[in-house]
Amino acid sequence: MTTDEMADLRKLRYNSTVVHLDQVHPDLMVLRVKPDFPRPAYLAGQYCALGLGNWEARVEGCQAETLKPEDLSKLVRRSYSISSSIYQQPGHLRDMAQDDFVEFYIVLVRENFDGRVPALTPRLFALKPGDRLSMGEKIVGHFTSELVKPGENVVLLGTGTGEAPHNAIVWDLLRKGHTGNIVQACCVRLRKDLGYFDTHRQLMEQFPNYKYLGLTTREPGMTRKVYIQDCITSGELEEALGAPLDPAKTHVYLCGNPKMIGVPVKDKQTGVRNYPEPTGVIEILEKRGFQADNAATKLKGNIHFEEYW
Ligand SMILES: Cc1cc2nc3c(=O)[nH]c(=O)nc-3n(C[C@H](O)[C@H](O)[C@H](O)COP(=O)(O)OP(=O)(O)OC[C@H]3O[C@@H](n4cnc5c(N)ncnc54)[C@H](O)[C@@H]3O)c2cc1C
Repeated sequence: MTTDEMADLRKLRYNSTVVHLDQVHPDLMVLRVKPDFPRPAYLAGQYCALGLGNWEARVEGCQAETLKPEDLSKLVRRSYSISSSIYQQPGHLRDMAQDDFVEFYIVLVRENFDGRVPALTPRLFALKPGDRLSMGEKIVGHFTSELVKPGENVVLLGTGTGEAPHNAIVWDLLRKGHTGNIVQACCVRLRKDLGYFDTHRQLMEQFPNYKYLGLTTREPGMTRKVYIQDCITSGELEEALGAPLDPAKTHVYLCGNPKMIGVPVKDKQTGVRNYPEPTGVIEILEKRGFQADNAATKLKGNIHFEEYW
């Protein structure tokens, strides 16, 4: 494809600009995107699509991709939760209504062992401030804090960039002066994978009802080698929450790796909900009286979840 053809496709297919890019490390970034259209209203926790053309360059060191010539001019789109850096400046929460951009927290998937070659993140990580891309005009999703009542406790458990919507929800609760206790735990491999860690430290100093647990699985020292499930069964989560995990007054949010979440699958013949192996958080909490949302039956419980794949 010629440079002129690429320029024409970008003009035709892109509707947004990268206005800020914070590369936490080569495989993790906070990206702010300003759409050409008025930024749609959205609820904390929702997501939208980002897209780039197959003609764009990919960063080095990723699984090789072979494209058919007819696919070269196509756009590849994926869903991304809207994140929040929470603070405008130290001590002052953002006024997101004033922001003309949307913030995303994205990890580079270098290799996909599930089959298809990662198509979008190797291209997103080649972006620079000022570059253009496509952003979906609809911001959607049910993973929001609308059901949380004043004074209820909120627990947000994520893996990796599954922290993104939790940051938006934490921002939303704190700016509304939520009085219940809020605990966020995020499980990553290494300390450097906690891209918003300093923000959470500041929040804990400012808001006595907010606690953040950064859990690292491959780097003992910062915490211990621990997974989200261990953190619940050991009692560490309740200790951080400063209260028992009481289904009557606690909402739990789960986001990221489906294995951590562990959504049960209903057996079509028996109607029995079977929990997957290894044990996920939904199984642990449902055995303690919590109830996960169920999109099929439209049941709204007190465990809300967003699977990233
Ligand atoms: C509702 C929703 C919101 C999402 N929000 C985010 C977000 O805020 N930040 C984000 O980084 N990703 C998010 N994702 C995942 C995102 O849509 C893409 O799947 C991901 O960026 C990989 O895209 P890709 O084209 O490079 O690879 P794909 O070809 O899409 O490869 C998908 C594979 O990559 C792996 N993978 C996908 N996402 C992740 C991840 N976050 N961490 C580790 N491994 C992953 C899994 O093995 C998955 O099978 C979200 C997904 C959904 C459904």
